[in-house]
Amino acid sequence: MDDWKTATKLVHTGARRSQYGEMSEAIFLTQGFVYESAEQAEARFIEAGADEFIYARYGNPTVRMFEERIAAIEGTEDAFATASGMAAVNGALTALLKAGDHVVAARALFGSCLYVLEILGRFGVEVTLVDGTDLGQWRAAVRAGTRAVFLESVSNPTLEVIDLKGVAEIAHAVGATVIVDNVFATPTFSKAVALGADVVVYSATKHIDGSGRCLGGVVCGTKQYIRKVLEPYLKHTGAALSPFNAWVLLKGMETLNLRVNQQAANALALAEALQGHGKLAQVIYPGLADHPQHALAMAQMGAGGTVVTLELKGGQAAAFRFLNALGIVKISNNLGDAKSIITHPATTTHQRLPAEQKAALGITPGLVRLSLGIEDAGDLISDVRTALAEA
Ligand SMILES: *Cc1c(COP(=O)(O)O)cnc(C)c1O
Repeated sequence: MDDWKTATKLVHTGARRSQYGEMSEAIFLTQGFVYESAEQAEARFIEAGADEFIYARYGNPTVRMFEERIAAIEGTEDAFATASGMAAVNGALTALLKAGDHVVAARALFGSCLYVLEILGRFGVEVTLVDGTDLGQWRAAVRAGTRAVFLESVSNPTLEVIDLKGVAEIAHAVGATVIVDNVFATPTFSKAVALGADVVVYSATKHIDGSGRCLGGVVCGTKQYIRKVLEPYLKHTGAALSPFNAWVLLKGMETLNLRVNQQAANALALAEALQGHGKLAQVIYPGLADHPQHALAMAQMGAGGTVVTLELKGGQAAAFRFLNALGIVKISNNLGDAKSIITHPATTTHQRLPAEQKAALGITPGLVRLSLGIEDAGDLISDVRTALAEA
């Protein structure tokens, strides 16, 4: 099984067939488990075996299938699933850190990730934010007490690509754990562990579900980190993934590669078609040769990803006219969906940020983030071109 390619693992790993030999993964919609004897219950509370469960807040067979499948894809020893991506980010950081610890994080983070870092600050964890693309800033920020570094491998929404290998070398030199929020890279393109990440976090709500049905999250890492550091925190604080949602995510994983490859092909086709368009100040896509970290993106992911960010010349008014004129592409704030989705970050996902911070992150009034779906590329390009004409 270890030498299977990702496409095979996505369909067949993490299978735990019951005595009925069902083809499709079973939904074990149960929060508890019956013991054959008091002695068996006692033994399981001392140490549960691989096929033994106690309570769904600690683990559940369907959830376990999802954890085993994602760990197999990511190339980590183990994984722990959570109710949402944010529960995974919060768990990955909070389980590891204590008052007095220092964290270095890239400043271009998802708004809720920044909020988690603020909460950690209240409990005595010191956080330093750096420009993630500048290895010099990482080098200057880490020190002996740096316990973790945290970053999004491709930033939202401006698609800066962070040099994972470079950051990991700097972090490991001071003994810090490298925690990567890898949503934009997707499990399909991720080489995060090979490049030095110790812990990889996904919002499964995005590409893993891929059909906009449920929230979910997962933390991938070594057996030691997942079972000895993370699990005690998560199982007692209650961010457990519902077995039903785990089943939805397992089904999502079966088609993950097909969808993500199609989405990335659509993203490249759209980005190429829009280069030099008169209404656009910028077409940002790591798969384009003119992207500042194009070579790094290709080495790190082998593709440009599934999101294209555009900057309209006419500011917010032009951006709003463009969004409102789209037909196929839907206005929403999710990403990674089979349906193409467009977001105006300055007024929605990043609205909370002060104006200076938005400017520093490149989140201008004319900026829009387009998450490509699996529709026909020609239809999408024509929808975007028609709407741009009206912007
Ligand atoms: C969506 C997202 C999250 C949060 O995931 P939820 O499932 O919405 O909780 C965290 N990080 C990144 C980069 C995301 O895109």
